[in-house]
Amino acid sequence: MMDTHEALAELASQGLLRTRRVVAGPQGPYLEVEDSQLLSFCSNDYLGLANHPEIVAAATTALHKYGMGAAASPLISGHSAAQEQLEHDLAAFCGQPAALSFSNGYMANLGVIGALVGVGDTVVVDRLSHASLIDGARLSGASLKVFPHNDAARLEQVLARCSSPRKLVVSDAVFSMDGDAAPLANLAAVCARHDAWLLVDDAHGLGVLGPQGRGSLAAAGVQAPHVLLMGTLGKAAGVAGAFIAGESGLLAWIMQRARTYMFSTANPPALAAATSASLSIIVREEWRRQRLRQLATQLRTALTGLPWSLLPSDTAIQPLIVGDNHLARRLSQRLRTEGLWVPAICPPTVPKGTARLRISLSALHTDSHISQLAEALRRAAQEHHA
Ligand SMILES: *Cc1c(COP(=O)(O)O)cnc(C)c1O
Repeated sequence: MMDTHEALAELASQGLLRTRRVVAGPQGPYLEVEDSQLLSFCSNDYLGLANHPEIVAAATTALHKYGMGAAASPLISGHSAAQEQLEHDLAAFCGQPAALSFSNGYMANLGVIGALVGVGDTVVVDRLSHASLIDGARLSGASLKVFPHNDAARLEQVLARCSSPRKLVVSDAVFSMDGDAAPLANLAAVCARHDAWLLVDDAHGLGVLGPQGRGSLAAAGVQAPHVLLMGTLGKAAGVAGAFIAGESGLLAWIMQRARTYMFSTANPPALAAATSASLSIIVREEWRRQRLRQLATQLRTALTGLPWSLLPSDTAIQPLIVGDNHLARRLSQRLRTEGLWVPAICPPTVPKGTARLRISLSALHTDSHISQLAEALRRAAQEHHA
């Protein structure tokens, strides 16, 4: 048996030990953390909807109507009227023929990949794809190939050499730790030429990008029977859960074959009702997206001249690359003493040597929040050089 104490000490010595902090109260620009208040640049609640009164009210009303639990998998007796309504709302929101709910994004990716491919087939993933896509590919038994980040030409070469009966290409639409966008139109065209499905994980684009926040595929004008969208609802939508959207026949098949759909209890009906409420706010309140874009520009201007630089990104994810794990952690701790919560992201979440501060913005941040962060980073940089 492994000595877990020793293994944990080893992780700690490499600066790779992860810890949790207890947050009291709701999400928002300020978080109540262990008897202090911290200004948060650490959440994926990009639109500031996680504590929106209209969403809370929709959940409350539905709780009184449905109670709490769904009590069974959707294929047994757990598929509620609220869930059915949500799937219609999701399909309409994304401009896709149909949608199917999953308990969360991780499970959606595992389920969908396993439903579409298996032993003898091939999954081709962008090198920086989310762990859930890689895990889904591995679990499916298909052979796993990798293409260089955002490189549609190299993807085409990989597909041209592949003789598997079924091919599936997967990519984040907006990369979770980098904030840049995939070339979706090119990826979809390459997949069409090589008879491959394309699964687009829009965890960080849904609600934020595209007309009325309808996501990265809508922004790119991509919609085709071989393209599947996976959207998560715990990030910009401010609730929880996930869904797959695409061509109806494909979704009907996924429902019959996705093990994470079949063998898992449905989400609470109240969550579905809250999510429908969230979608209507996302469509209606354009100011949240405008504000996010403004804040990204402000932040990028405010952080020029630091010894570390931001990756090119015009999304809510603004990673400041620091390189060294220990330095990233030290900076994160230093900011914390000044009342700011900016997470250090280290390997294996990101490639070795690219440890970073992952700054994430929310539509509810103020101009002064941005300057507080910039000033704190400037002080930290001076200390670092002293
Ligand atoms: C967060 C995330 C997921 C997982 O979604 P959950 O609903 O949180 O399980 C999947 N893919 C990407 C790119 C993500 O960022």
